[in-house]
Amino acid sequence: LDIRNQDIKDKEIDVDQQLRPLRFEDFSGQQKIVENLDIFVKAAKMRGEALDHVLLHGPPGLGKTTLSNILANELGVGIKITSGPVLDKPGDLAGLLTNLDENDVLFIDEIHRLSPIVEEYLYSAMEDFRIDIVIDKGPAARSIQLELNPFTLIGATTRSGLLTSPLRARFGINSHLEYYDMSILTQIVKRSAKILNVEITHEAAGEIASRSRGTPRIVNALLRRVRDFAQVKGNGSIDIEITRYSLEALNIDKHGLDEMDNRILTTIIDKFKGGPVGITTIATAVGEDSGTIEEVYEPFLIKEGFIKRTPRGREVTALAYSHLGKNRFDEPNT
Ligand code: ADP
Repeated sequence: LDIRNQDIKDKEIDVDQQLRPLRFEDFSGQQKIVENLDIFVKAAKMRGEALDHVLLHGPPGLGKTTLSNILANELGVGIKITSGPVLDKPGDLAGLLTNLDENDVLFIDEIHRLSPIVEEYLYSAMEDFRIDIVIDKGPAARSIQLELNPFTLIGATTRSGLLTSPLRARFGINSHLEYYDMSILTQIVKRSAKILNVEITHEAAGEIASRSRGTPRIVNALLRRVRDFAQVKGNGSIDIEITRYSLEALNIDKHGLDEMDNRILTTIIDKFKGGPVGITTIATAVGEDSGTIEEVYEPFLIKEGFIKRTPRGREVTALAYSHLGKNRFDEPNT
């Protein structure tokens, strides 16, 4: 069974690769960011230099990894991929850095989780393309300086608030990815359906988009599940009926909210009479870190009009009450 699960997992990863845009022109949305990056890439190429270091921040599934791969493609350079928690020894970082070709990209996902030692090491690499490494042990130990090829560091993080300021200051380009609008998500559904070779109506694409929490990764996952239903329960193509049927069967929230979103709203309504209430109080009540609520959950809830930020804290809106089937004047059921 394990082997089969692994098989299925590998297939999902394959499909994921297929759906990943490889060039700027295939990457929908985030228009301002893409336009700017396109110019910086062209300028760096004209000068034959490495692109400035890039920090991409924003909630999960919005395209940070995808954009990093696109940047390497558009620059016509290689990319090495790692992540903060994996890089736990300076030696690992040195190994990666010394293997980069001129102007290559080093992508570090979850860069806020780098250990302080590795981070310290990264500073001189980013600034002067140079690292100090210690060779030998004991009394013979000495440090030598290694010249590196110029390279571009692309750091991705869902929690930019956790980055230290010296690290943040070393990125010349700093972009924040936002949740996607319905129209762009619908476009992404259609593009993915085309790649997966499945027919889909405009209405069905819109329905999947509206249930995907503003997130391309969720769009693609839902599309694949609806495709399964269409194949088994329908005639293989995706229309609004089979879409609604599938989303119902999958228990997908009408507005695409996830469990934590709903928990946050329910908590503010039931425990704090709808607010206003401070973010740290909400965080304690739902058992999640306040930074994650502020950087990952709240921006979507605000964008979709479920929460308002007021000078005295967060307040839910009438939409939140109606979404949860609650009445503003009900006794809180605590
Ligand atoms: P992140 O690194 O921010 O968590 P990813 O880059 O892994 O997100 O994106 C998740 C998936 O969503 C990718 O596999 C890609 O297919 C899809 N995706 C992300 N952004 C876009 C976009 N702008 N257009 C089309 N597909 C996208």
